[in-house]
Amino acid sequence: MPRSSFTAVLAGLALAAGTTSLLAQQPQSKWKPDDPNRPHPPIVTPGPAGAPVPPPSDAVVLFDGKDLSEWMAADSGPAKWKVQDGYVEIVPGTGTMLSRRKFGSFQLHLEFREPTPPEGEGQERGNSGVFLMSHYEIQLLDSYDNVTYADGQAGAVYGQTPPLVNPARKPGEWQKYDIVFHRPIFNTDGSIERDAHVTVFFNNVLVQDNTDIWGWTVDHAVAHYKPHPDKMPLGLQDHGFRLRFRDIWVRPLPDDESR
Ligand code: MG
Repeated sequence: MPRSSFTAVLAGLALAAGTTSLLAQQPQSKWKPDDPNRPHPPIVTPGPAGAPVPPPSDAVVLFDGKDLSEWMAADSGPAKWKVQDGYVEIVPGTGTMLSRRKFGSFQLHLEFREPTPPEGEGQERGNSGVFLMSHYEIQLLDSYDNVTYADGQAGAVYGQTPPLVNPARKPGEWQKYDIVFHRPIFNTDGSIERDAHVTVFFNNVLVQDNTDIWGWTVDHAVAHYKPHPDKMPLGLQDHGFRLRFRDIWVRPLPDDESR
């Protein structure tokens, strides 16, 4: 239900963009999406979790522990997740949360905490996701002592590129992503001019190094690009697990990487 409702939102956004073309984009990988035989990245023990530090002065603060005024439900109504004690917790079944503001290229900081005690295994343990521009998922999963396909573990560009290493902390400990995302550039005919790229630090450890994103992240299928607006909401996925989030902020970036 949560996943399908989010898919409906994405379909609506695609329609809003007034486009129907589907562009083939062959990934530069010998591995199939979600391939169980793909090697798993080595485990790295990160430094200890610390208290959040204040955001930089030019950050757009999307969640400071107090309220969800910067967020909405998939139907554009009020976000339905639970705020308490300085964090927001997913309420399973209420659906994905989208930022009311829209972003193109940006730097993103967010902190998250996987449910404890852990329940389930593989993709069914603490699954959520950070959807950049609503379409490009950096996977959130409890990847501490939990094996799944490499491109589906925490820090992966879901279904495309595994993290370089696995620096996951134990469930119940606060963790963080620092993400630099450069949006895709489309030609006026809807074809792709330049792929999106993403760099991700997971608990201060580099896990995606200017990684080429091959298209909208999808389940068990090869990714393709479909054109969309230059700015889109940030999404946090309700996959049925009670992850908590805190300290979420964005710094919009220029699209031009050649300056
Ligand atoms: Mg996910």
